[in-house]
This record gives sequence, structure tokens and C-alpha cells, in this order.
Amino acid sequence: MKTSKLFLVFAIALFAFASCSEDINSTETDNGIAAEMDEKSAEVAALCDSCDFTGTLTEAEVASLMGMREEEKFAREVYLAMNAKYNYRTFANIAKSENAHTSAVLYLIKGFGLTDPSPVAATEFSNPLFTDLYAQLTEKGSASLVEALKVGAFIEEYDIADLQRHLAETENASVAKVYGNLLRGSKFHLKAFTNALKVQGATYTPTVLTVEEYNEIIGN
Ligand code: ZN
Ligand code: ZN
Repeated sequence: MKTSKLFLVFAIALFAFASCSEDINSTETDNGIAAEMDEKSAEVAALCDSCDFTGTLTEAEVASLMGMREEEKFAREVYLAMNAKYNYRTFANIAKSENAHTSAVLYLIKGFGLTDPSPVAATEFSNPLFTDLYAQLTEKGSASLVEALKVGAFIEEYDIADLQRHLAETENASVAKVYGNLLRGSKFHLKAFTNALKVQGATYTPTVLTVEEYNEIIGN
């Protein structure tokens, strides 16, 4: 966790040049997806089909579940905030997907008898890194639609890097299955944000992944 925290701080530093101070409050959105999906929903089932909760998770696996639960929730909330500001469909669609992602991780957490680390309030996080990132990135994204789309691409890059690391660390089949599906989703989201930036006449330069990794994901 230590290296990933350092990495996150570094990533925040790269991103810390927000200029707009307009307030965004995603809890004002009324699209009905600011709450986790039921674990029996089709969306969650699709991410965790035939998951079982046998075996004992390692400390690293437990820590990764706690982290990903809030990382996916954080992504959802940033995109909801951006959608509230710009009413741009890419954000609404991807927020729904992140809701399924955080719900699938929650399903694993509950299934393995662990306690959900995340506060009930939609934009609150037990990990202060996500509290800080949420504030910084929603402010940065409020500068313009292009900045908001870049925030989206950044979050997906960050997600992809974390999921790849966790996947390499886990030997539990159910955890690996969910992370693999989340990773596939994140790559798709990164592609979607990249394409949306293209439509706006903007290009995206990766800051978390290498240019080679990024190009491979977006199919360049
Ligand atoms: Zn996700
Ligand atoms: Zn995503």
C-alpha cells in the first residue's frame, strides 16, 4: 500500500493545477444511481458470475478489496459530478458502469465476511486519499468539458494500473474474476474518454501508464 500511496501523491502533484473554485455537489443529481446496486442485480452478476467465497484471503487481497471498493465509488462520484455540470452522456454512462464496479467489489467484501470500509454518504470515503482526489479532480474538471474528460481519462489510467497490480497479486479465483472484468471495463472507459476528447479537438497524454501501454489500450 505504501508504494501505491506514494504513487497517488505523485499523481496528484501532476494533476494539481486546478483553477476554478466552483462548487460541485454530486448528491444533487437525481439520476438514481448514487447508491450501490443490489448484489443480485444483473450488472453485478455479470461482473461476478459463479463467484464463490471459499478460501482465505491474504492481507494484500483484503487491502485491495478495501481500496478498490472506494476507488470505484470515487470514480462514480467524480463522473456524476461532471455529468451534473456538463450533462454529457459519456459521464452518465460510465458512472453507471462504476456503480456496478463498486457494487461488485462490495459483493465480494460481504461474501468474504468483511466489513464495507466506505461511509454511507455518496461522496465520503474512509481513505483520505480519495477525499482529497475527489475535491481536486472535481475542481479541475469544473474548468471545462475538455478538462473534465481529461480527469476521466486520468482516473481510468489510475484504475487500470491498480487493477493490474492487484490481479498480479491475487490467487483467489473470484477476486481475480471481478478484477479482470473491472480492468476490461476501465480499458473501455479510457478509450471512451480518449474518443470524447478527440471529438472536442483535444488529445490526451497518459500520466500513469506508459505511452506504449496507453496506445495498446486505445488501439493506436
Ligand atoms: Zn471501474
Ligand atoms: Zn472506469
